[in-house]
Amino acid sequence: NALMESGEVHISHLTFGYAPTHPVLHDINLFIPSGSFFGIVGHTGSGKSTLMSLLLRFYTAQSGSITIDGRSIADFSDEHFRASVGLVPQEPFLLAASARENITMGRDISEADVIEAAKAAHVHNLILQLEQGYDTPLGEGGARLSTGQKQLIAIARALAGKPRILFLDEATSHIDSETEQIVQIALSELRHQVTIIAIAHRLSTIRDADCIVVLNHGKLAERGKHQEL
Ligand code: ATP
Ligand code: MG
Repeated sequence: NALMESGEVHISHLTFGYAPTHPVLHDINLFIPSGSFFGIVGHTGSGKSTLMSLLLRFYTAQSGSITIDGRSIADFSDEHFRASVGLVPQEPFLLAASARENITMGRDISEADVIEAAKAAHVHNLILQLEQGYDTPLGEGGARLSTGQKQLIAIARALAGKPRILFLDEATSHIDSETEQIVQIALSELRHQVTIIAIAHRLSTIRDADCIVVLNHGKLAERGKHQEL
């Protein structure tokens, strides 16, 4: 057993429903090459977050398979799996703790790595502008930050674990266009360093993606680059 290496994902004939009689995803087939930037779009309820939940092993599909680096995802130990993936959820949860603690989350991560992750997430300068920098309490649920800023902290948190696959479920609630652009730039800069699987509610966020797939009622409807869709 080992950590993920390439972060190459293969989804084959994946079918899943929260109630087995009502499939939410139908026969999904997808190949996500190592280090590629993959975007997923689709209407609300089309199954985007569900697909991500299956990739993260939160649920198990009724049929079909998911492999990473050619190994079934079930074969990774919890420890290795968790250490190999980073997740930026749709509604990031911030602790009533300092900016630093919100990035380390109790993991043994050096100050240099915290700063490197914050810079990659384009949130380093924002943190430095707070009165106590990385020691500034972010408040219960991160009350003093906007949703978009919380997502940037969550990106830094995910990157601080040096994942092979970065999962991002873009916030549905309002994000100011400046922050949205920062997310877009951060993802674009990370491509080729880590496999990126990003659900986007705004096509602009993933305009630099190598491939974008459209989910429609739980089926893969289209795929292509930004300008082709
Ligand atoms: P959004 O853009 O609103 O985030 P989505 O594409 O992420 O939507 P999902 O959250 O994957 O959509 O939901 C797909 C379908 O599965 C919907 O019909 C939803 O109601 C249903 N669903 C989602 N989560 C659950 C759950 N935990 N239990 C039962 N049904 C669920
Ligand atoms: Mg969703």
